[in-house]
Amino acid sequence: MKTEKKRTIKQEYLIIKRAIKLVNETTPHFTFHCAFFSFCCSLTRVGSNYITASIVDELTGDRRIKFLVIMLSCYLIEILLRIIRDYSWRRVRTFNIIASKWEDMLLNNKSFETDYKNTEDSTVRANRQMITDRAGQSGFNVLMEQLVCFFDGAWLLLLGAGICFGMFFKHSPHELFGAEKFIDSPLMTLVFFIVVAILSVVDYKKITKFSRRIVESQKKRALCQIPLHYYLNDYTDDSKAGKDIHIFNQKRLIRSSVDRFYGEWEKCSKEWFVNMRKNNNAHNIIYLISNSITYLYVALKVYIGAFGLGGFLKYQFCITRITESCTILSRSIAELRANNDYLELFFEYLDMPSEMHYGTIPTEKRSDNIYDIEFHNVSFRYPHSDVYAIKNLSFKFKVGEKVAVVGMNGSGKTTMIKLLCRLYDPTEGYITLNGIDITKYDYEDYLALFSVVFQDFRLFSFSLGENVSCSQEYDEDKVLSCLNIAGMKERVSALPDGLKSVIYKDFDENGIEISGGEAQKIAIARALYKDAPFVILDEPTASLDPLAEYEIYSRFNDMVKNKTAVYISHRLSSCRFCDKIAVFHEGEIIQFGSHEDLLKDTNGKYYELWNAQAQYYKDNATA
Ligand code: ADP
Repeated sequence: MKTEKKRTIKQEYLIIKRAIKLVNETTPHFTFHCAFFSFCCSLTRVGSNYITASIVDELTGDRRIKFLVIMLSCYLIEILLRIIRDYSWRRVRTFNIIASKWEDMLLNNKSFETDYKNTEDSTVRANRQMITDRAGQSGFNVLMEQLVCFFDGAWLLLLGAGICFGMFFKHSPHELFGAEKFIDSPLMTLVFFIVVAILSVVDYKKITKFSRRIVESQKKRALCQIPLHYYLNDYTDDSKAGKDIHIFNQKRLIRSSVDRFYGEWEKCSKEWFVNMRKNNNAHNIIYLISNSITYLYVALKVYIGAFGLGGFLKYQFCITRITESCTILSRSIAELRANNDYLELFFEYLDMPSEMHYGTIPTEKRSDNIYDIEFHNVSFRYPHSDVYAIKNLSFKFKVGEKVAVVGMNGSGKTTMIKLLCRLYDPTEGYITLNGIDITKYDYEDYLALFSVVFQDFRLFSFSLGENVSCSQEYDEDKVLSCLNIAGMKERVSALPDGLKSVIYKDFDENGIEISGGEAQKIAIARALYKDAPFVILDEPTASLDPLAEYEIYSRFNDMVKNKTAVYISHRLSSCRFCDKIAVFHEGEIIQFGSHEDLLKDTNGKYYELWNAQAQYYKDNATA
């Protein structure tokens, strides 16, 4: 997190400018509406006082009917101003209501578009978490509120100063001597304004000092909130965690962690509160002194006859507003700068560069599925890692061949699939499709060639039909056929709402709960529905028993007849039907051939793995 970095005024301004530009895209003329709304508010406040003061002056002075009528009709303008003001307020307020979801949508759009590597990168994930966790206290909402405050302060200062300026020229009509003469002099007015200005500067300094402390304690508080929220909400609320909490009595561990973070959070909250109080106290004292001096000065001017009761009301009100505006301005600037920490992080996330090369060549649309893919001396290291997950891999997928990929955990099987599907690009070497480097193809076109069921696939709380087709409109017969092939026939026919049944109960109390095995079958049906020339199963059947897995794999084999298929499995028995088996070890293919051929090499890894598993099945069978 780069919040400790000091930004220059220009950098602060540029962040705010960019944020405003972005907001303008969803709420046109956003800044104008903020400024106009604040202007109307300030004008109605200062204006009402001015009119009241002028009426009082007139009633206690010349009592001109025409002037009184003009002043009273000014109230009508004020009503009109309030109506126009409300239009701008509605625009600003509407943004205020949608801002947080709009921010989430921008972040989500970025995560859809960003290179896949960023979604796995721990630094990127931590930054995203930080943005999400601070979103309550910072963001575009705060930008809006503080912009309104800033304009409010600026308008009050301008309007107040404009009216008070007249005070320099208000003198007593009587001849005065001594102290009274000094009170009436422009010098006294100047001294008064200098004193008020000094008090405002002191107030600004205090506010800036405490605001910085408040922001620091807010940040510390937000950092404690991350683990606290995880333990109190995310983990405990996760129904899947319930079993572990009970069986492993995790409540002790959770409670002690919560106690620790709660203690720190409470400390930071108190620190935050104390700084707020000190800030308010300091401001209130300065405000009181400044107000008393103002009352005294204006009262003295009335006493010497420079202006009447109306003038007292008018000038006292305006000077108080000027002092208030200094506080509002300094506070809003401090808040805007603190909010820039969040916006900077937010923009850093949006600006994450894409390092993948996205080509433009469309892939050939072939009904014969002749798509030759070949790895040429491919090596790969994950970002921030010195270790090669794939080493110098050269390998060709023959069209229509069924290839099993086997090997120990961490031997690089899934990484090879990620490279094949261009979730990552090779660190060294290259991959070709029909002789052309895959980076030269249009990315979406290239991805359309693959149907993959990953180990950690996800289903959504959408209807069964939508989950399989990944679309709101789908071919029902095709969805049903894919579900049948995946082994869900009985289950689907027993569902009262059929394909319309919503999976899980997150949004629908009639949603269906499905077992791990059923989820895997639905994920396989989804891969079948895509009907891509390459089908890849990356151990999606891990929670099925060996027989069920074998059944699915061999049925799948029938379904993907003329397609190229890659099967990854721990269970070598499931892969016997494949044409070829690639044995991975420490990022390399150390053996490649048919099941029978590989078994002949009694010193080979495949023989070792096969016997280790065959032994296990035999032991289980005799037990
Ligand atoms: P397999 O599928 O054979 O179990 P993987 O391809 O998942 O193996 O992993 C190969 C190696 O790459 C392992 O050492 C693993 O720890 C590492 N690895 C996998 N994913 C990542 C990642 N996102 N970041 C860093 N290292 C990773």
